[in-house]
Amino acid sequence: MTAFTNRLQQHFYNSFKSEVSLHCSEVLTQGLQEPSLVSSNALLAKQLGIDPGELTSPEMLQIMSGNQIPESSQPIALVYSGHQFGVWAGQLGDGRAITLGELAVGENATLWDIQLKGAGPTPYSRFADGRAVLRSSIREYLCSEAMHGLGIATTRALCLIDSKTPVYREEVESGATVCRVAESHIRFGSFEHFHYRQQPEAIKALADYVIARHFPDWVGEENKYLLMLENCVLKTAKTIAQWQSVGFNHGVMNTDNMSILGDTIDYGPFGFLDNYNPDFICNHSDTNGRYSFKNQPSVGLWNLNALATSLTSLLESDQLIGALKQYEPEFLNQYRTIMASKIGLEEYQPEDELLINQLLELMQTNHVDYTIFFRSVCDFSEDNHSIRDQFIDREGFDNWAKQYSRRLQQQSSTDQQRREQMLAINPKYVLRNYMAQAAIEKAQQGDYSEVNLLLEVLQNPCDEHPQAEKYAGLPPEWAQQISVSCSS
Ligand code: AMP
Ligand code: MG
Repeated sequence: MTAFTNRLQQHFYNSFKSEVSLHCSEVLTQGLQEPSLVSSNALLAKQLGIDPGELTSPEMLQIMSGNQIPESSQPIALVYSGHQFGVWAGQLGDGRAITLGELAVGENATLWDIQLKGAGPTPYSRFADGRAVLRSSIREYLCSEAMHGLGIATTRALCLIDSKTPVYREEVESGATVCRVAESHIRFGSFEHFHYRQQPEAIKALADYVIARHFPDWVGEENKYLLMLENCVLKTAKTIAQWQSVGFNHGVMNTDNMSILGDTIDYGPFGFLDNYNPDFICNHSDTNGRYSFKNQPSVGLWNLNALATSLTSLLESDQLIGALKQYEPEFLNQYRTIMASKIGLEEYQPEDELLINQLLELMQTNHVDYTIFFRSVCDFSEDNHSIRDQFIDREGFDNWAKQYSRRLQQQSSTDQQRREQMLAINPKYVLRNYMAQAAIEKAQQGDYSEVNLLLEVLQNPCDEHPQAEKYAGLPPEWAQQISVSCSS
C-alpha cells in the first residue's frame, strides 16, 4: 500500500496556481503542542485506502496536528464569501481550515480533499485564531460520521487530535484538530464571492473546475453549467429532506456552509430533535429562528437562489428559474418517500400525506420523542399496546393506529418483512447533545473512550449495540441545560 503522504495530490492548487491569490492562498500549518490522538476512523481509512496502522502512527500524529507538512503537500486555504443569517457578509474563507491536498481513491481515482480544521490562522482568519477547541471538534467528528451512518451526504472526519495548546473562548480550552475529508469544500459562497467582486472569469474557472473534477462526463456538454446547478438543486433538496426525516437541525445554514455537491457541511451548533417540535432551534444565537428545524427546507431554496444569482454570467435567467423550480417537487418527493418508508409503507400514495401529517401533529402535541417513536413503531401490530404509552392522548393515537393498520393491510409484505425494512431505516441512535457532552467531558479529562464508543455506535445507528443501551432511551433531565452557540 502506498503511504498516505506519497499519495497526496495538489489538484486544486495546480489548477489555480497561476492565479492562486484569486481562489486560495498558500499557507503553512501551525502545529498543536503535545498532540495526542483521540480517535481515528478506521472505517473511513479503509474507504480511502489508508492503512489503519499508518493512521495511528507517530508520523501521522505530527501531520494531523499540523506539526509536519508532508513533502508532497502545498497547503492552501480557500477564499469564499457568503450570506450569513440572510445578510451579505462579504469575504469569509477558510479561517481555520487548511487543505493539505487530495487523495485519489478507488478505480475511478475519485479525489477527496484532506483538510485540517484548527491547524492555525490563514489570511482569511480575520480577527480569529485559526484554532478549534476539543469540544467543538468532538461534535464535528462524531456528527459527520453519524450523518454518514444515517446515509446522508456529508463531509467525513478521518481523525481527531487533542493537545496542550491553550485556546481562549469563554474560558481556556484545549486546541484540537479534525481531519475533514470531502469530495468538495466548494461552497455556494465560493461562487458568490466572485459574483460580488464582478469577476465572471473567476466564476467560470470555478464552475469548470467543479465540472472537470466531479462531473467529467459533462465537460463537453453545451449545458454543463446548467447541469451543475440542477445537480446542486436536486442534491440539496435530497439532503435537506433526509435532515428532516431524521430530525437533524443544522443551525447555521449560511450560504458559506452549503456545499456545491449538496453535502452536509460545517457542524457547529447542530442538534437532533428529542421530542418532535418543528419550531426547534438548536443554535442559541439564532434568536429569530431563521434556521429552526421547520425552516430548513425553505432556507435551502433561499440559499440556492443566492447561488443561482451568482451564476448569472453563465446562465440565462429562464435557465436559473427552471433549475430552482425543481427544488420543491424534489424535496417533497424525497421527504414523502422517506417518511412513508419510516412507517413501513412500500410505496407513498397521495392519501398517505394525511396519515403522516396526523402522526406528526400527534407527536408534536404529545411531546413524543422523534427517534424513539419511529424505532418503536417498527414493532407495530394491532395487539402491541406499548407504542401508545408514548402519547398522553391515547385515544388520539388509537384513532391514528386504526387508520395505519388499515393502510398496512393493503400491503403484501408480512409484519416480519415490514419490521426488518423499518429497523434498517429508523435509527436506534442519533447524536443527541447530551451524548456528545458526555464524550466531551470525559475527553477533557483525558479519557477518550466515550468518543470512540459513540463513533462505533453512530457509524451503524440502526444496529443493536448492547454496550450503548444507555443512549437508546430518553435524554436525561440535565440535557435541557445544554446550550450550544456558534462559539467553537
Ligand atoms: P462558521 O460559522 O464556523 O461557518 O464560520 C464562519 C467563518 O468564520 C468561516 O470563514 C470560518 O473559517 C471563520 N472562523 C470561525 N472560527 C474561526 C476561528 N477560530 N479562527 C479563524 N476563523 C474562524
Ligand atoms: Mg463555515
